[in-house]
Formats: sequence, structure tokens, C-alpha cells
Amino acid sequence: MVGGLSSRNKNRPAYPIVERITIIPIGLVEGPVVDFLSHRLPEVFGKKVEKGSRIQKPHFAYNEKRRQYLVDAILLKLAQIRDSVRGRVLGVTEVDLYRQDGRSVFGHANRERKVAVVSTKRLQDEYYGLTGNLEKLEERVLKEAIHHLGDTYGLKGCANPLCAMFDTSQLLDLDIKKPVLCSGCKRAIP
Ligand SMILES: [Zn+2]
Repeated sequence: MVGGLSSRNKNRPAYPIVERITIIPIGLVEGPVVDFLSHRLPEVFGKKVEKGSRIQKPHFAYNEKRRQYLVDAILLKLAQIRDSVRGRVLGVTEVDLYRQDGRSVFGHANRERKVAVVSTKRLQDEYYGLTGNLEKLEERVLKEAIHHLGDTYGLKGCANPLCAMFDTSQLLDLDIKKPVLCSGCKRAIP
């Protein structure tokens, strides 16, 4: 029994429930990228955003043949972390991700478990032998983070090519859309 609760409060939580997004840095992902997300995501989703403790490189998800990490396994790890926090969990990592179906991806979500993860790996121009910059990388990571977090809130692919929920698999399309939700998608966030 929790002491000090009057009978009229007994069916209510002892503290207000604050829906929030917890960002978990994974592996060696750069601090500035994580900071950028924690500054920009609150306005997009209207939620409090917190940074959680960094976890080590997900060796358990590594596929030696592909030299990539299975994103579904990483999402299950994040789901364990989510058990101790309220709201959504977003992992951010530098490791290269692939899905169970074999596709290499920028990020992915587990809608049922309300967790998402994004990787900086294929969002960097350096990956393609080009000269990149941090600002461009941060914008791309933010768009991917919005897209996959949106998935955990039940949002579907959007028809508006400027909305972050528009489905993109190419950097060219990703660079066209904006790091925001269109008004329709924003209204659908619970
Ligand atoms: Zn939209």
C-alpha cells in the first residue's frame, strides 16, 4: 500500500502521467546528432523529450556475412528499455542496419512495442564517397526519426511529399521533404 493517498485518489496514479520520448544513443553515435534531435523533436510531437543512458554497440544484432546489424533485434532491445520509461523510445546509432526481409534501411520502428531506431550510416554523404557536413546529416536524421516515431504513434505513409511521413527510401526524396509533420499527420498524434 502507498501511504498518504486519500480514498478519492486511490484509483489514480500518484503522479501525473507525462507522455515523453526517450532518446537512447547506441554505440558511437555522435553527441551533437543526439542533442539536435532532443532539441527539435519536442516541437514536432508536442511531447517532452529526454536523453537516456548510452548503450554499447549491439553486437547481439551483428551479421558477420552482411557486416550489418539486424534492426529488428535492436528494436527488441529498445523495447526492454521502454519497459522502464513511459512513452516512446528512439534509438540513434552509427551502425549499418538491415531488416529481416533483407533490405538495408536508414531506420525502422516496431509499432506494437512503440520503439524506433535510426542510423546515421547511410544518411552521411561520406558513405557514398562525397563530402558531407554535420548540418545536412542532422536534418536527415531528424526526418527519419520523425518518420519512424510517427509510425509508433500509428501514423501511416502520407501523400504529401513535403511531410516527414511521406515514404522515402532514397536520399534524393528524403532531402526534398521537410523535418515536420503536415497538419493532418500532426492532428493524428494522440
Ligand atoms: Zn503528413
